[in-house]
Amino acid sequence: MSFSLLSLLSLLSLLSLLACSCTDTPDTGADDTDTDAEPEWGYSGETALNAYNPGYYIRYEVDAGSTLTWNGNVYDLVQFHFHGQSEHTIEGQHTAVEIHFVHARQDDATQLAVVAMLADADDVSGLVGVFDAGGALLFPDALALTESHEATALGGSVDLGAVFGFGKGTPLLHYGGSLTTPPCSEGVEFFVVGSLLPMLSADIAAFHAVYDYNYRPVQPLNGRIVTGWYVDR
Ligand SMILES: [Zn+2]
Repeated sequence: MSFSLLSLLSLLSLLSLLACSCTDTPDTGADDTDTDAEPEWGYSGETALNAYNPGYYIRYEVDAGSTLTWNGNVYDLVQFHFHGQSEHTIEGQHTAVEIHFVHARQDDATQLAVVAMLADADDVSGLVGVFDAGGALLFPDALALTESHEATALGGSVDLGAVFGFGKGTPLLHYGGSLTTPPCSEGVEFFVVGSLLPMLSADIAAFHAVYDYNYRPVQPLNGRIVTGWYVDR
């Protein structure tokens, strides 16, 4: 299945959206009506891997300096984490993993932007040279972390420039939503990248050994407005 080959229109019709298991108020779409420009991507190369386990996923902190600019606001990339299976579906099918890159708005850190990338097993082109130099996502080390809120240096690094290196023409969808994990806040701009990220099957297995079902079931649109672009850069 080649996600990137789907037209934006069919992607829109295939996308299943999220709602929180917490009380979820449908987004009015008010935030979605005043922009038609795609985000500007500003991701600065390698970041060290510092992680902790807040109980529902492994949270990877990132070095400062990576930003997403959208609708006149600059968001700093703060952390990323993995869900298994994916929280969005393609043609009704989950992929093995979904990665959420969580950004906080510079002028109001309660306002978040999440870039979601769906990933599946691909041992030919799986993330070697993207997630750390050795290709391992350090899941065994990360998953050995006991529950805490203090980040531990795992060694290794992530090449954010490569992770966000999806090419011109990649479909990108946006909607206003909520966090899928506590506190499930509203005021989250979701961007879903329409190209599948390849991961090593060993990494996926290591992740699923502990976190097989930390995803939120897909939910109806609830009146949310979905916009989209083909990445142009
Ligand atoms: Zn998430």
